[in-house]
Amino acid sequence: MQIQQKDQGFNFDQYPTFKKDIDPKQRAWIEVKGKAIETNVRQLRTKLSKFCQFMAVVKADGYGHDAKVVSDFAIKGGASQLGVATLKEGIKLRSFGVKKPILILGNLYTKRDLIISFRNDLMPTISSIRECLICNNIGKHFGFKFSLHLKVDTGMSRLGFESNKFVQQFEKIKSFENISIEGIYSHLSSADEDNALDPKSITQLQRLKFNQLLKQINLQKNHEIKIHLANSAGMLLKKDFHFHMVRVGLSMYGYSPLDKIEKNLLLKPALFLKVKVAFIRTLDSGVGVSYGGKFVTSRKTKLAILSIGYADGVPRNLSGKINVIYNNKLYPQVGSITMDQMMVDITGSNEIRIGSTMILLGSDGDKTISPLEWARKSNTIPWEILCSFKNRLPRVQID
Ligand SMILES: *Cc1c(COP(=O)(O)O)cnc(C)c1O
Repeated sequence: MQIQQKDQGFNFDQYPTFKKDIDPKQRAWIEVKGKAIETNVRQLRTKLSKFCQFMAVVKADGYGHDAKVVSDFAIKGGASQLGVATLKEGIKLRSFGVKKPILILGNLYTKRDLIISFRNDLMPTISSIRECLICNNIGKHFGFKFSLHLKVDTGMSRLGFESNKFVQQFEKIKSFENISIEGIYSHLSSADEDNALDPKSITQLQRLKFNQLLKQINLQKNHEIKIHLANSAGMLLKKDFHFHMVRVGLSMYGYSPLDKIEKNLLLKPALFLKVKVAFIRTLDSGVGVSYGGKFVTSRKTKLAILSIGYADGVPRNLSGKINVIYNNKLYPQVGSITMDQMMVDITGSNEIRIGSTMILLGSDGDKTISPLEWARKSNTIPWEILCSFKNRLPRVQID
C-alpha cells in the first residue's frame, strides 16, 4: 500500500498545528472493535443462569481498550454493572454519561474519597468497620443510605474483612442505618490454575469458605444483597461460582484465562495493534542491527523500521521473539526493540513500502498474533500485556 494521504501541496493552512488534528493512524495505534466486546458479553452470558448478572470489569481504561467504548458495548451485550479500580476511573465513566451501577474494586479509606464516591453515585468496596462507620456518617449527613459492597477475604490476602471475624462484624454492620449493603463478595486467587476443579484446590477451598460465611450470616431468603465471587476464570470453571453476579474482565476482551476452554465458546479479540513502516533500508550480510548489535545479518537483508517501541508498551524482552503480519504473511522482528522503533526483516517482499501498515496484534487472512502469545514469550500474563499500552498509542474505534 502506498502512502494514502493526498498531496496537499504547500498550503500551510492545510497542515495541522494542534494535537487534535493529527491523524491517529499517523504512527502506531490501537483499533478497538466494540462489537467484539458486545458479542463476547452475549456469548459469556449464555453460560449464566437467567438471574445471574454480568459485571463488566473496565478498570485500567478497559484493559487498555478505552473504558468508554468497552462500557457502552458491554452494556449493549447485557452487562448490568461495571467494575473499576479507582475513584477517578468511576468518575470518568459517570462523566461520559454511564448510568449503570459502578463498583470501585480498590479501597477508599478517607472521608473525602468516600464522599466523592457517594456524590458520584459510585459504590465503594468496604473491608473494615472503620470504613463502614465513615460511610454511615456520610449517609446520615446527607440524609440518604450510602450504597456499598462488603468484601471478605477467603484466601487472596489482599482486601476484605478477615474471614474469621466477618460474621461477628456483619452483625454490627447490619445495625448501621445509613448504609445499604448492595453486595457481599470475595475474590479468587488461583482460578486460572490447572487444578482449580480439584476438590482440594485453593479455588474450591475459597468457594467453600465463602459459602460457609454466607450461611453463617444467615441472610433472609429474599434479600436484595448481591453475592459475587467469580472473575473470568471462576466464571468459566463451573456454575457453582456464579452466585448472583460474575465480575468479568479478560474473557470479555476476547481471551480465555483457562487452557482447557469449552469449544463452544467463541471469544473474539477486540484489540488490534497496528503500526506504520517509517523507513526501509537494505543491509549487507554481517551487519549489526539495533542497540548492542546483537542481531547480525547473515545475508543481504531488507529491513522495515516500524514506528513503535517499548515506550508504547511493547515489552522490550520480546526482542527477536515476535512476528509482524503484512498481507497474510509473517515477518520476524529482529534486533533489540528500542524506545520508539523496532526493526523487521522483510527480505524478499516487494509489497511493503514506507507508509504501509503492519499488524503486531490481531489477524489478517489466516495469520493471528494474540496477546496470549506475547505474554507467554515475555514470561508474563495477558492482563499485563493489555494494560501496558501507553497513551501514546491513540485508540481508534472501528465499528
Ligand atoms: C480485575 C478484577 C476482576 C476481573 O478479573 P479477570 O480475570 O480479568 O476476569 C474481577 N474481580 C476483581 C476484584 C478484580 O480486581
